[in-house]
Amino acid sequence: MSTAGSPTNWAGNVTFGAARVHRPTTVDELRRTVAAADRVRALGTGHSFSRIADTTGDLVRLDGLPPRIDIDPQRSTVTVAAGLRYAEVAARLHTAGYALANLASLPHISVAGACATGTHGSGDALPGLAAAVAGLRLVGPDGDLTEPTRDGDPETLRGAVVGLGALGVVTAVTLDIEPTYEVAQQVYTGLPLDRLADSHQEISAAAYSVSVFTDWRTDARIWLKQRTDRDSGGPGRHWLGADRADRPQHPIAGLPAQYCTEQLGVPGPWHERLPHFRPDFTPSNGEELQSELLLPRAAAPAAFAALRALGGRMAPVLQVSEIRTVAADDLWLSPSHGRDSVAVHFTWAQDTEAVLPVVAAIEEQLLPLGGRPHWGKLTAAAPQSLPGRYERAADFRRLLRDRDPAGKFRNAFLDGVFPAA
Ligand SMILES: Cc1cc2nc3c(=O)[nH]c(=O)nc-3n(C[C@H](O)[C@H](O)[C@H](O)COP(=O)(O)OP(=O)(O)OC[C@H]3O[C@@H](n4cnc5c(N)ncnc54)[C@H](O)[C@@H]3O)c2cc1C
Repeated sequence: MSTAGSPTNWAGNVTFGAARVHRPTTVDELRRTVAAADRVRALGTGHSFSRIADTTGDLVRLDGLPPRIDIDPQRSTVTVAAGLRYAEVAARLHTAGYALANLASLPHISVAGACATGTHGSGDALPGLAAAVAGLRLVGPDGDLTEPTRDGDPETLRGAVVGLGALGVVTAVTLDIEPTYEVAQQVYTGLPLDRLADSHQEISAAAYSVSVFTDWRTDARIWLKQRTDRDSGGPGRHWLGADRADRPQHPIAGLPAQYCTEQLGVPGPWHERLPHFRPDFTPSNGEELQSELLLPRAAAPAAFAALRALGGRMAPVLQVSEIRTVAADDLWLSPSHGRDSVAVHFTWAQDTEAVLPVVAAIEEQLLPLGGRPHWGKLTAAAPQSLPGRYERAADFRRLLRDRDPAGKFRNAFLDGVFPAA
């Protein structure tokens, strides 16, 4: 299928410039489309805020491919169609008695799109979602199929998983799985910002997955997601000056919590607790923008101090800020490559002109601390400055040249970050 038109991303801040949009229903049709194209990009669910998925050529949607979900109990993996959303994969896995190690805040994003940008959840011991990838099926520029795997070609896989959509169109992803588990979620409100700064290590270590929400001016709220088979005990009713909530909370203080995953310590399946938002709540578009930086854990105190100093500057455009932790991985362009990280995220008002100068002010403070901007969110950093933040960027550049010498999968975003030689 090929349609004309100008789709936008989920937030509406990017109108794709594609001349044509395709929705192939078989891998062979996709291969022919890619082979025939001059310039082509894959589109996931369009949840990125940057222009990373954009193209002036052909845009290919993957959600028309057969929705395969094949579990391999011997290898403890599942192979899924790349365009599937985590919500679909997670529900099927749980029914079959399996689970993924982690999920992002929203389960509506596609597996391939999330992995391509280094999307992450939270947890001191949990790397980003891409770290679970054991293999990819990739359509190259001539319509050729390759399958880098962790066992067969680990170096290529390390380069290709957080691939920014630049190495080809992923048709299937193989992910590590484990036996299903339950999570119980508690929220603590009224954490003084001084206690956040002093006790962040204790807070982030208090459960399997922990998120902290704040406006950097008043106080903070802690989301503790405890695995019932691993985390024992947990903080009492009062903790570090915060109080355990006795009614469900929304990450943005004061908003109704009916679309949030169940709280108050009620145990439930992993995929119905790890994301903050319920899978059956499907926002078709969002009135927000987002930016995020991942920093080395040791930079957290300096980063928090800088952000508190900027609290007044952020206030007119900030909806909420979220602090998470991400374990180190070895994927070349992963924002948590080679270092345990603290991730500082910002949900902004949907006003690019007003938001970008504030993002720039934050990045002026946090980039020198080793910050790496999220590939799928807004940044004011100069694109050509980004590779210098990644030890394996030169290897990625080489992989790009080898896999796509004519630059078929390039777009303006990629040309900015990795200019063609
Ligand atoms: C409400 C909301 C909540 C979010 N929560 C989180 C969060 O908790 N943690 C976090 O880290 N991020 C989060 N994000 C950011 C989001 O996870 C990323 O932007 C992610 O890339 C979105 O996936 P997508 O399927 O929409 O990808 P798209 O935005 O469609 O595409 C992103 C990139 O992936 C490439 N791509 C997509 N599919 C393929 C494919 N089949 N083959 C090759 N390349 C492909 C595209 O070309 C593009 O370069 C959130 C975003 C929103 C809107």
